[in-house]
Amino acid sequence: MSIAENLRQVLSTIPPKVSLVAVSKTKPEEDLLAAYNAGQRIFGENKIQEMTRKQESLPKDIEWHMIGHVQSNKVKYMAPYVNLIHGVDREKLLKEINKQAAKNNRVIDCLLQMHIAQEETKFGLDASELEQIIKNALAGAYPNVRLVGLMGMATFIPDQKQIRAEFTQLKQHFDNTANQLEQCSVLSMGMSGDYLIAIEEGSTMIRVGSKIFGERNY
Ligand SMILES: *Cc1c(COP(=O)(O)O)cnc(C)c1O
Repeated sequence: MSIAENLRQVLSTIPPKVSLVAVSKTKPEEDLLAAYNAGQRIFGENKIQEMTRKQESLPKDIEWHMIGHVQSNKVKYMAPYVNLIHGVDREKLLKEINKQAAKNNRVIDCLLQMHIAQEETKFGLDASELEQIIKNALAGAYPNVRLVGLMGMATFIPDQKQIRAEFTQLKQHFDNTANQLEQCSVLSMGMSGDYLIAIEEGSTMIRVGSKIFGERNY
């Protein structure tokens, strides 16, 4: 199947209120253009240099989402244009995003990444770190950042019950955060293998790569 057909297939399985981030990491510009020409406007990348190179050469009405782990010293390269940073997993990073956003006279939308998986390797905040950030944000510590929601990744296992339980837990953090921050409206959860479960558990934004662009060769 072509990229356009894959895209239509994925879109046909999700409700219209759920937004789709097409995860194009490692894929060449021509693949992104194929999805763009089929109507896709939101693309997700996990390396800042790669995203910036693509942003420079592709149409300007694309929305660029950084979905990967972000090194603080690279925030400056995406601060002029990035539309949403999904992986804010430490307060130090939030400080740097706020600083670089201010330098660019922007307010940058961010999601706080929660650690919900069993794997130690996955990044993310725990509940007390989340509370601390919400408290500081409410006190006005980050005027150039808009905390619009949460993001998380489930454990990479076939056990659907475990995956669902992790998404349920993330949804609870999300509801709790939305009670405190009125602009909190985005719950980014679900990838190629688990997005249908994620949507059942309340996801509003899914990040799908291989189901659209095919397997990645690293
Ligand atoms: C790569 C990646 C995805 C997409 O993964 P697929 O299984 O190819 O859909 C989603 N989210 C994050 C954070 C990723 O790094």
